[in-house]
Amino acid sequence: MEYPAYPPRPSKEEADFINATAIDWSLGNGLAMLSPEGKGVTAVHAPITVYPSPFPKSAMANALAVQTAFNELYVRVADNEKWLEESLTDVFKLDSDFTGKLWESYLKVKATGLTQHLTLGLFRSDYIVDKHAEGYQGSAAIKQIEFNTVSISFGALSSKISQLHTYLSESGTYGETGKHIEPSVSDSLVKLSDGLAVAHKEYVATASPAGKTAVLFVVQPGERNVFDQRHLEYRLYEAYGIISYRLTLAEIREHTKYVKDAAAGFTRLVHTASGAEISLVYYRSGYAPTDYPSETEWDARVYLESTHAIKCPSLLTQISGSKKIQQILTDPAVIRQFIPETEPALVDQLEATFVKIHPMDNSPAGLKAREAAFATPERFVLKPQREGGGNNIYKENIPDFLRSTPEDTWGAYILMELIVPPDFKNKILRAGEIYDGEIISELGVFGTALWNQQTSEIKHNEQAGWLLRSKLKSSNEGGVAAGFGCIDSVYLF
Ligand code: ADP
Ligand code: MG
Repeated sequence: MEYPAYPPRPSKEEADFINATAIDWSLGNGLAMLSPEGKGVTAVHAPITVYPSPFPKSAMANALAVQTAFNELYVRVADNEKWLEESLTDVFKLDSDFTGKLWESYLKVKATGLTQHLTLGLFRSDYIVDKHAEGYQGSAAIKQIEFNTVSISFGALSSKISQLHTYLSESGTYGETGKHIEPSVSDSLVKLSDGLAVAHKEYVATASPAGKTAVLFVVQPGERNVFDQRHLEYRLYEAYGIISYRLTLAEIREHTKYVKDAAAGFTRLVHTASGAEISLVYYRSGYAPTDYPSETEWDARVYLESTHAIKCPSLLTQISGSKKIQQILTDPAVIRQFIPETEPALVDQLEATFVKIHPMDNSPAGLKAREAAFATPERFVLKPQREGGGNNIYKENIPDFLRSTPEDTWGAYILMELIVPPDFKNKILRAGEIYDGEIISELGVFGTALWNQQTSEIKHNEQAGWLLRSKLKSSNEGGVAAGFGCIDSVYLF
């Protein structure tokens, strides 16, 4: 696969003009984050690429085509409590501080009597183009890194950066050397907020709230990536008149209350100060152990889950996104059991996005993987049951890490084959500084689904735009919030 010669080489003067224009646009349009030291009152433009990055059309087409099938697959997994329990029994024990706690919380909620079976999923399936492999039916190979079921981010900023790159292109700012660049615009901001609105409306239609209603964003204290979330709130308000509130897990008990509705047979969650009934609890927190520094936060999670508000995601949906489940789902027989009705050709296309993922437990496959991890570590990445970046162990670091970790806990990890993406040049603009170099990109495709976890009826299932994140080739991890990467848009070729 031949990547286009990239990026354009403007003169120093032209480059300074492009950068300054990009920064103004970003700050003017909320392609921004709160400053690290800004005490919540100053913002900095988000880390971005100056140009969209080239991305193979055929790989993009594949990734978009399989999204609704992936949504459905994870919906079915989340509905199968028994299978989840069986598949994760060891992980619950070995990772008792987190995955085990999520499960324990689910059991507590279940014991109080779950009343709300409608669940919203805002998902994101992440991929890297594999430069060594061939893809589905001869296309560029797109390989899945992971499927995220909780607190997916950058849907709004992705739309913003594709608008920024379009502006730089159409306004002539890229100049003579860059005038051929045509970015593609991601509609993820609109589609994700539409997903939230679908759930809100379904609640209003089915729960007969007496008065005002609102969506509750559960957020992290000190979150810097607030505008990515705020844009969703603003769109909810502008397009649908839906108000939202923001609370951290620690603030939940103080700022909300239960209103038991005996006639309806469920508990309404009410935002105390406004009196608004919460239709939807949308988690942009709660995906990592650090989000639960004390029992207060776990208690808040159970408290929220026990209400009739729709959750995005429910505990079972969050648990379905664990890396162990992703490993088990690379088995074609397992997939077909979950989505037997899906077009076989589409299931083939979905499976073509997988690389090998091995268990690290003491099953025969796990024992073989353990050997491989020591013999050829350069082929692998070792992953714990964690989200949010910065947790994986790469290549040569794997053997030492395993030696320093009790062998009876290795089963809590999965061993994934490394994907080697093509690299190309682009410029990264971070806090006003330019970093010029070889970068690699990761595509995320968003999906939204609303379904009933009891009846398995799927009311809404859509592909919801995309995100491109890029990083300098020299760093292993691409988390933008974690500080290693930047937001990008695609230039299809
Ligand atoms: P997290 O849940 O912490 O985001 P990921 O599984 O997404 O964990 O891995 C984090 C990053 O590590 C990815 O964004 C990617 O850059 C890199 N990575 C993960 N798996 C692979 C792989 N199989 N091949 C190459 N890079 C990978
Ligand atoms: Mg990830």
